[in-house]
Amino acid sequence: MKTIIEPFRVKMVEPIRMTTRSEREEILRDARYNLFAIRSEDVLIDLLTDSGTSAMSAAQWGAMIQGDEAYACARSFFRFERTIRELTGYRHILPTHQGRAAERILFGVLGKPGMVVPNNSHFDTTRANVEHVGCRAVDLPCAESHDLAAEVPFKGNMDLEGLKRAIGEHGRERIPLVMVTITNNSGGGQPVSLANLRAVSELAHSHGIPVYLDAARFAENAYFIKLQEEGQAARSVREIAKEIFRLTDGCTMSAKKDALVNIGGFLATNDEEVAVKMRNLLILTEGFTTYGGLAGRDLEAIAQGLEEVLDEDYLRYRLASTRYLGRKLVELGIPILRPVGGHAVYLDARGFLPHLSAVAYPGQALAVAIFREGGVRSVEVGQVMFGRRDAAGVEAPVERDLVRMAIPRRVYTQSHVDYVAEVMEEVWKQRAEVKGLRISWEPPALRHFTCRFDLA
Ligand SMILES: *Cc1c(COP(=O)(O)O)cnc(C)c1O
Repeated sequence: MKTIIEPFRVKMVEPIRMTTRSEREEILRDARYNLFAIRSEDVLIDLLTDSGTSAMSAAQWGAMIQGDEAYACARSFFRFERTIRELTGYRHILPTHQGRAAERILFGVLGKPGMVVPNNSHFDTTRANVEHVGCRAVDLPCAESHDLAAEVPFKGNMDLEGLKRAIGEHGRERIPLVMVTITNNSGGGQPVSLANLRAVSELAHSHGIPVYLDAARFAENAYFIKLQEEGQAARSVREIAKEIFRLTDGCTMSAKKDALVNIGGFLATNDEEVAVKMRNLLILTEGFTTYGGLAGRDLEAIAQGLEEVLDEDYLRYRLASTRYLGRKLVELGIPILRPVGGHAVYLDARGFLPHLSAVAYPGQALAVAIFREGGVRSVEVGQVMFGRRDAAGVEAPVERDLVRMAIPRRVYTQSHVDYVAEVMEEVWKQRAEVKGLRISWEPPALRHFTCRFDLA
């Protein structure tokens, strides 16, 4: 088989500024060892996130010029709505400025204090929005997902028995909706199978509970289903994606992922009564119902991006490029979450740095070491992101400490990824020298974005 190449050529370039190791040492000190505080021009290869970092196509830039910027009922809204309705089948479609705005409105309408929201794994902003309205966010990842190294497909699945128990315990009255995140971002970008989604949907619906997707990476998930699920190989990804959406009652979507744009999102539902309440909240905080905090040109770029993301040459390259980095790291003996997910490679920081305890923040320490070595920015997904202090200020260790190296869509080439692997090889050789960190300041919620560290 021949090399799976980038299925595009480059029309416009953006220079990367090279830095030295001593410059990076100073950059890290100035940022208080929080990589969110590092200026983009000080980063060589930015794998912080795949969110909003996609390169847009010539067709998307062309569509932006066509944007209709009318306040109400712009032509661009109807293109956006038509594209999403054709893909998802949902009846009511509300543009939002990003995924979390959709989450805030969804839980603002359906969530009441004391309720419980099950999810295969809540993304951090989803959890924060669930908790913000006084609900409890319950993660129900499947049993296989707890073994980081197990090479099993569909480790993003929801634990059906767990869902059954949750419904038995809390009942329809206290479960406003079941959410399924595709792919499962907090769980390592692992896909959810059609079989699992069908079973979740049947179970929830048999109790009258609606199912909503967190659909940020629906196309990557659909391609995994085509590649790995029995009986799906002959179907088009578009057909699979359509079925995924039609098994559910609505979705939140961060268009910054699989809509291949730099900003945007949407919220959708089939429930008329719920949609009326959602629109009222949308107008209050986002904008009129046909723009929801976005410009007409953004709606155009999203509509075009949702077409391009289902191109199977694109998806083949997309999943291959993530797998390529994963395979290189496995060959070096570096412990990673397996199999490799759709949008990112996740390093097992506790396996990488076994000499550090959970509260020495091994994930953060590893992310800092990677930046110091090669100017590569990644993100901790572990104790810093999910740790909670008790009344005495003590943190219990969370289940695992990962470092996510997310691959932006259509941005980096194979030689960029080769460079990242070389940086990782060097950090791996020097892993025994990597020191832990202490938090010197933190805010009350979502601390990973702004907290400050000292070297321990
Ligand atoms: C990014 C993301 C969100 C939040 O979307 P924003 O556009 O960043 O607000 C929600 N869920 C998942 C799974 C995501 O990856």
